[in-house]
Amino acid sequence: MKLYNTLTRQKEKFVPLNGNKVTMYSCGPTVYNYFHIGNARPFIVFDVLRRFLRYRGYDVTFVQNFTDIDDKLIRRANEEGTTVEEIAERYIEEYFVDAEGLGIEKADYHPRATENIKEIIEFIKTLIEKGYAYEIDGDVYFSAKKFDEYGKLSHFNIEELEAGARISVDEKKRDPMDFALWKAQKPGEPAWDSPWGPGRPGWHIECSVMANKYLGETIDIHSGGVDLIFPHHENEIAQSEAANEKPFARYWLHNAFLNIDNQKMSKSLGNFFTVREAAKHYGYEIIRFFMLSAHYRNPINYSTEQLEQARRSLERLYECKRNLNFLLENAAETSGNNEVTEKLNQYKEKFIEAMEDDLNTADAIAAIFELVREINIQISEGNKDKEFLESALKLFNELTGVLGIVTKEEETLEEEIEKLIEQRQQARKEKNWKLADEIRDKLKDMGIELQDTPDGVKWRKI
Ligand code: AMP
Ligand code: ZN
Repeated sequence: MKLYNTLTRQKEKFVPLNGNKVTMYSCGPTVYNYFHIGNARPFIVFDVLRRFLRYRGYDVTFVQNFTDIDDKLIRRANEEGTTVEEIAERYIEEYFVDAEGLGIEKADYHPRATENIKEIIEFIKTLIEKGYAYEIDGDVYFSAKKFDEYGKLSHFNIEELEAGARISVDEKKRDPMDFALWKAQKPGEPAWDSPWGPGRPGWHIECSVMANKYLGETIDIHSGGVDLIFPHHENEIAQSEAANEKPFARYWLHNAFLNIDNQKMSKSLGNFFTVREAAKHYGYEIIRFFMLSAHYRNPINYSTEQLEQARRSLERLYECKRNLNFLLENAAETSGNNEVTEKLNQYKEKFIEAMEDDLNTADAIAAIFELVREINIQISEGNKDKEFLESALKLFNELTGVLGIVTKEEETLEEEIEKLIEQRQQARKEKNWKLADEIRDKLKDMGIELQDTPDGVKWRKI
């Protein structure tokens, strides 16, 4: 498999450090609100990467953290007159509701910053001992210039970085490029005891510490959105490599933005929709499908048309699955002719080839639609052989399963609809065409279209 590595700016063959074991760390949400559709992009994309690696036989250990202490959580808690813990607890719970809806599997570990304060303090102590960090009035800063390779991920040079660096009024750092590892407590803020007095960790340090704790000093894959390349990931590299004197992450993967009206969707710009809101309009699965319909390194535009398009595409996939299940109920025994089964395998190869090319889910979905077309042609040409139907369904489920789509069980008709279909069958038997047509029209009003086929009555949602 090839993956585009931000560190080297090229597609590289993916070879894990330890045989078939893969260690993967993805930066998770800051839990002060429901997450928005832009945030959902890395969660979905890297869930698919994890599933695909597993599908190809790798044993993946996946960590995604929760940032449960920062300025935004503190502000939110103050606004609501509650504690930071309560805010974090609430939105972690809500994260899991939306994540499950979107088909994002739970990580092997979901560590939280506040549960790792002891380890964070130890890590900072090491950085001070090694001469990379210094304390001023209860704050601890990392000295960026001490780390020779600072800038290697973002490909900025020191001059460029210096031009953009600022010291805000409440910071006491020596150099504008330095960044906080530990922040001394300010009035009204939660704090933990430390060798430098009461305070809390900076943002970047938690990921270095938790990746190290759960996955080791060198990990295979580290991922997140492009906005994290600088400074967050650049700083993670500096901290981890300064402390451990080993390469930190071998493959750095970054998804492009999800935009709205050609602008990054973000909480600070206020142009965001939460996944919770969008799911009410479209359902979770359509959001997931939409997200995977583009390559993860291309920007994607969130619009009603795109979502409607996703709805139609997904419906075509469900229709194929329904058709196969329906025909299988009455399928004749196998003829033993597996030529067609072999033919179907070319779509599997196409799917894998697309996914192995830097996780090209857009082309992988195209391969699934080619498979569906082939299945439809076979069926329309009268191929209702059990072996064919079974292998078609198995392959269909296998490929859609890697993407985590078309996962719903075959829809069951509500009782009322079932009864109506039965009544219509009865009317037709009695040659009461008028009544049969009336029932058909009634079902149409309910969004159900009937189709009389030699194999029986089929239905589909319209
Ligand atoms: P945050 O909760 O802001 O730390 O973001 C969580 C994840 O969402 C990070 O990997 C971000 O890079 C990513 N992210 C935030 N906004 C967008 C967006 N509009 N499009 C794609 N990814 C985003
Ligand atoms: Zn991180």
